[in-house]
Amino acid sequence: MNTNATQQPVPLIQLRGITKAYGEGATAFLALKGVDLAIGRGEFVAIMGPSGSGKSTAMNLLGCLDRPTGGQYLFMGAHVEALSRDERARLRRRYFGFVFQGFNLLARTSAQENVELPLLYRGEPAARRHAAAARALEAVGLKGWEHHTPAELSGGQQQRVAIARAIVTEPAVLLADEPTGNLDTQRSHEIMELLARLNSEQGITVLMVTHEPDMAAYAHRIVRFVDGLVASDERNPNPAQPGSFRPAPAAAVTGTKAR
Ligand code: ADP
Repeated sequence: MNTNATQQPVPLIQLRGITKAYGEGATAFLALKGVDLAIGRGEFVAIMGPSGSGKSTAMNLLGCLDRPTGGQYLFMGAHVEALSRDERARLRRRYFGFVFQGFNLLARTSAQENVELPLLYRGEPAARRHAAAARALEAVGLKGWEHHTPAELSGGQQQRVAIARAIVTEPAVLLADEPTGNLDTQRSHEIMELLARLNSEQGITVLMVTHEPDMAAYAHRIVRFVDGLVASDERNPNPAQPGSFRPAPAAAVTGTKAR
């Protein structure tokens, strides 16, 4: 294990003075203005903040999709900011899983095949792909749905497929960008419970952008961005537990549509 001089484990993720400018010269816009953030292995962090505060920019950098303009990003002690595009892609494929608001599944492609895709890119043989995808789909509660296409699945189920696709490579970090943004309340809580379980049972580090306090409540730590900087960084002493959400009785629910 990487350790520093005092034998403390090195954080999984360390951002030091990270800046990100879009554009150049006089018209450049500084979206991140010097972000310092350390995230340990196994944390569950919600990233909140107003629109335009730099959350997506930070997530793109954290997921090695983009490079900072300045500062340092250490992942497992390695300097990501110094890596080439190909090296970043390798790091990304090995250690990161991504979940998006819009699910981003291939239409007309079965759940099983969608989940196998990252393993196909890795060149895994068919038998290993099939077995790993079946395991991942079971882990997200979709055993028996393997051969359905996205159009045959509800929104909540589609997001489960997307989560299975993200975890099939056994990533260290799951980056989720508003994963419940397209879902109703009940489905949103179900997805959050799934993320909380993956975090607590499989030890996957979860970083999630959300606008919804009810969803952030599942995280153990809440980091708020304002104007390109970390404005607050707080522990959540009582994270919402899987099973704690009780839907309102059906008669009391108006105007919501199960997805
Ligand atoms: P958030 O995710 O919190 O809404 P973003 O990281 O998307 O914030 O954006 C932060 C700021 O950077 C915004 O002012 C946005 O307009 C600007 N920005 C984001 N992406 C680009 C880009 N590709 N080119 C120029 N400006 C951008």
